[in-house]
Amino acid sequence: MFSTLYVDGAPVDLMDDVPETVTVEFAAAAGTYRCRACGEELAETVTGFEPDSGDPCCADDEEHDAERVPLSWCNSAAISVDESGDAVTVATSVGDPRGAFAFAIRRIPDDTAGDLAGALVMHVPYPMQPSPHMPLTPLHDGTYLVGAHQVVRRMGVAA
Ligand SMILES: [Zn+2]
Repeated sequence: MFSTLYVDGAPVDLMDDVPETVTVEFAAAAGTYRCRACGEELAETVTGFEPDSGDPCCADDEEHDAERVPLSWCNSAAISVDESGDAVTVATSVGDPRGAFAFAIRRIPDDTAGDLAGALVMHVPYPMQPSPHMPLTPLHDGTYLVGAHQVVRRMGVAA
């Protein structure tokens, strides 16, 4: 087996012909909120949001307009291949960075007794799973709410 790793469509030289795991990690220090207008990082407080600079205004004496930083919910995303298990796993970590939701597809060995010999099976996270990465609540088939449901609140910036 030989594999090629592509990053944004361009092949990347590998130290190993078949790497077992490729991971994209996001900086833990990145903030969760920023100003939609000027991009300044905003810290969430009990009364709203506090800008790093301490200046509650950005342009034209307007208050900063808080928005969530895209992908700030993701710790890492990884693809693992297991030749001996004939399986590929995609894992996304959104909670405790030591764990992840894992989606795996593997082939049942040809020499297995039964009708499923040689078939591909997919394993996915599910609600009430023992030791879950985070709780899941079904919204509809194949779609789950991840973690505890939070009431959407109006975002303001503390002055
Ligand atoms: Zn701003």
